[in-house]
Amino acid sequence: MIPVLTALDHLFALADPIDIETVPLRAAAGRVLAQSVSARRTQPPFPASSMDGYALKAVEADLHAQFKVVGESAAGHRWNGTLGPGQAVRIFTGAPVPEGADKVVIQEDVTRSGNMISITDDPGPKDNIRPAGVDFEQGMVIDAPRRLSPGDIALLASMNIPEVPVRRAPVVALISTGDELVVPGEDPGPDQIIASNTFGLAAMLEGVGARARILPIARDTESSLQTVLGLAQDADLIVTIGGASVGDHDLVAGVAAKLGMEQAFYKVAMRPGKPLMAGRLNGTAMVGLPGNPVSAMVCGAVFLTPMINAMLGLGRAPAPRIVMPLSAPLGKNGPREHYMRAIVSDGAVADAGAQDSSLLSVLARANALIIRPPHDPTRDVGDLVDVLTLS
Ligand code: AMP
Ligand code: MG
Repeated sequence: MIPVLTALDHLFALADPIDIETVPLRAAAGRVLAQSVSARRTQPPFPASSMDGYALKAVEADLHAQFKVVGESAAGHRWNGTLGPGQAVRIFTGAPVPEGADKVVIQEDVTRSGNMISITDDPGPKDNIRPAGVDFEQGMVIDAPRRLSPGDIALLASMNIPEVPVRRAPVVALISTGDELVVPGEDPGPDQIIASNTFGLAAMLEGVGARARILPIARDTESSLQTVLGLAQDADLIVTIGGASVGDHDLVAGVAAKLGMEQAFYKVAMRPGKPLMAGRLNGTAMVGLPGNPVSAMVCGAVFLTPMINAMLGLGRAPAPRIVMPLSAPLGKNGPREHYMRAIVSDGAVADAGAQDSSLLSVLARANALIIRPPHDPTRDVGDLVDVLTLS
């Protein structure tokens, strides 16, 4: 059996960064910026008022000083003159500060009568002016790779960048295998259950930027599996679920080999999720996951999500772990790394109950996995453990 990180290295070898496409800003949220971009303008492009008030000369801004109001500067409509001594310009937030002015006295500190104002409250030292370029200068670079947040989108818009180069969303073909499976909404026969893994994995992988395609369920015959694998050839990653161990009805490894897959089969020292198959099928990366629903989802979080991130050009890193205190004790762990369904609340973590790898109700209740090293001893409340959060 190989450790999880070794298995992950084998998977990263299959996860080359995908090609780049250009998308409009409206479609760029959550996508991964693939090439650095630079600001096409300076913001603000002129010294701008940050308040409603009167623009004047700071040296003249004494309490009780009087000024003649000679014009108005509003957002989008500057006053085009140059301010002389004893003069002020009515100004509003975001408006260009006129030549000759270097302070905005807020309107609350001023009393106006006709076209005269006097300063009736101490205006203080603040100039209430945003210098040109205080936010960013033309040419300021946003480095790639970077997953674009709503804040990034606003910044790119402000930089007048209407479209951005991003990694294409990797297409992941998800294949359930098994005579016992039907899709949600169908009428299962007496010995059948509903395929859940493909739906859960599609949701998980689309959440990190993949495009999932759920293919028809492959039956437990070589021809059915061959047919469905044939439908997956244009994907960037093929994921099969179930049929991956060595039971009589576990056909995935054999069929994939017949189709020319250069494959590796790993027994990974983890619980749940021991059997894992990986390789290339006619050049396309393929991963075979175990069928038990919680195993498949844990493998999705531990293996597939980092693979998608690598394909998106975000680098080859395992799923991030945080360290947290336990809020309930844990018994000792066996010889494999254990990913326990767990609940984080109030800064501490506890296991979420029964850990059988078929229990989706427990997985759905969980918001994290506690990661126990092999042979980890009994743990008490307050002991620190590694945690992988599930979103
Ligand atoms: P297998 O690896 O094919 O032996 O499957 C292990 C267990 O997971 C069996 O109980 C299967 O019924 C179940 N299973 C396999 N694939 C799925 C799936 N896509 N959705 C739900 N359960 C599945
Ligand atoms: Mg099966």
